[in-house]
Amino acid sequence: MRIIVVGGGISGLAAAFRLRQRRPDAAITVLESAPRLGGAVQTERTADGAIMELGPDSIIRAKPAGIALIKDLGLEAKLQDTEPTARRSFIARGHRLVPVPEGLYLMAPGKLWPFAFSPIMSLRGKLRMAKDLLIPPGNGCDESLGSFVRRRLGQEALDRIAQPLVGGIYTADPEKLSLAATMPQFLEMERQYGSMLRAMRAKTADGQQAKASGPRYGLFATLQGGLHVLVETLAERLRASGVDLLTDQTVTGVRRGEDGRFVVQLNGSALGADAVVLAQPAWGAAAVLRDLDPGLSAQLASIAYASVATVNLIYPEGQAALPAGAGFVVPAIEGRSLLALTFSSRKYGGRTPAGRAVVRAFVGGALHGHHLDRDDDAMVNAVRADLADLLKIHGAPERVIVSRWPRAMAQYHLGHLDLVKSIRAGEKAHPGLALIGNGFEGVGIPDLVAQAAAAAQRLAP
Ligand SMILES: Cc1cc2nc3c(=O)[nH]c(=O)nc-3n(C[C@H](O)[C@H](O)[C@H](O)COP(=O)(O)OP(=O)(O)OC[C@H]3O[C@@H](n4cnc5c(N)ncnc54)[C@H](O)[C@@H]3O)c2cc1C
Repeated sequence: MRIIVVGGGISGLAAAFRLRQRRPDAAITVLESAPRLGGAVQTERTADGAIMELGPDSIIRAKPAGIALIKDLGLEAKLQDTEPTARRSFIARGHRLVPVPEGLYLMAPGKLWPFAFSPIMSLRGKLRMAKDLLIPPGNGCDESLGSFVRRRLGQEALDRIAQPLVGGIYTADPEKLSLAATMPQFLEMERQYGSMLRAMRAKTADGQQAKASGPRYGLFATLQGGLHVLVETLAERLRASGVDLLTDQTVTGVRRGEDGRFVVQLNGSALGADAVVLAQPAWGAAAVLRDLDPGLSAQLASIAYASVATVNLIYPEGQAALPAGAGFVVPAIEGRSLLALTFSSRKYGGRTPAGRAVVRAFVGGALHGHHLDRDDDAMVNAVRADLADLLKIHGAPERVIVSRWPRAMAQYHLGHLDLVKSIRAGEKAHPGLALIGNGFEGVGIPDLVAQAAAAAQRLAP
């Protein structure tokens, strides 16, 4: 059996690993168009010991597939939790950072008093939020984040809390983001308790919500040495087990040959395969499948993606006094260049040389794509202006790394669940073909590893 995996990001590498476990005798080849493996998972390590994440920096522990892969690779001892002092975050308001009140989880508070006394929202906005207790539940249909939060908690709660905290995870436009596809637990809370405030209070009282505020930082982890260690270890194990990992190989199309096997076309050559895993963004899979199945290709192409950039900045510690916390998010209505900022040297220990502070800015996303039209210098200057205003960091950074991620963030718009159902049905019409990646059932690394395992099981039962 010959299996070809298109894409050497975390999805493709995890799929190849799970396939090899199931089929020690199969010929498996991973084709990656870039010169290096890992896709969006890239870590920069400097000679003096700084470890900077250019793409993702955390794995959520609560979704078991990611940790299961780490254990299977023998990397469990390298798991590193967020620093206890960094388990809180902030939301920008005007020229300052307001701590996310204790007990607030993504869109609603679970504790009354810390929220009531927080300057995070106006009194009027808080009173509107309280009306949630009286508003009847919706009809349970898919609804955008914007519509749901405005209906239950009011416009200010959307602008000041849900858009930056929930929309920010997906760098999404809240008016388009499908709640059913991204945060179905909120629809379920509404159905079960009839009110978000009641639901949050009940969950906080029975200990389901961690004490930490904002995103639940206790649930996030990384690997010592950075997340690229996961890529390097996968690559090592795959090579050792006879999997071919070929970089600088761009797949241009997949079709069926006369013998019924797949033909994977590269620039100037072609490879036969019994099974093919497309582990690319949905728009990339759409291009590859254009001839084999134009209908499926069109559905894949309809999944929207937003672009983002990260900007890592290293400062002498004295010039960048960072508050205790993991970072902050910026509501879109603040009109800033920054989407969010991670206090990298505080979030995970042992990643910064003595006497240095590292921060990582996010720019772009569905609501702020125009900020990416600028060249790197202009983008860095805009980030630095926000840092000067919000963190009083005025000096020049010692080093800056700009990483652009074009069309990297899948946008799960209204109707996404139905669209994916239809894509999965279309995939079934091509036995031996598997589609995985962040366009489908989750954008995080554990979601992708779970998809990779499921695809391996389907292709090699
Ligand atoms: C800035 C940023 C921060 C993030 N933060 C987090 C986080 O903290 N935690 C988390 O869990 N997730 C995070 N994510 C999301 C997560 O990193 C991505 O969803 C995930 O890495 C995508 O992996 P992938 O393998 O599916 O796709 P990619 O990483 O896009 O890999 C696909 C690979 O396929 C290759 N390819 C594409 N087309 C072809 C072709 N035709 N032929 C050959 N090769 C091809 C590409 O070159 C690429 O290497 C973040 C994403 C970004 C961009």
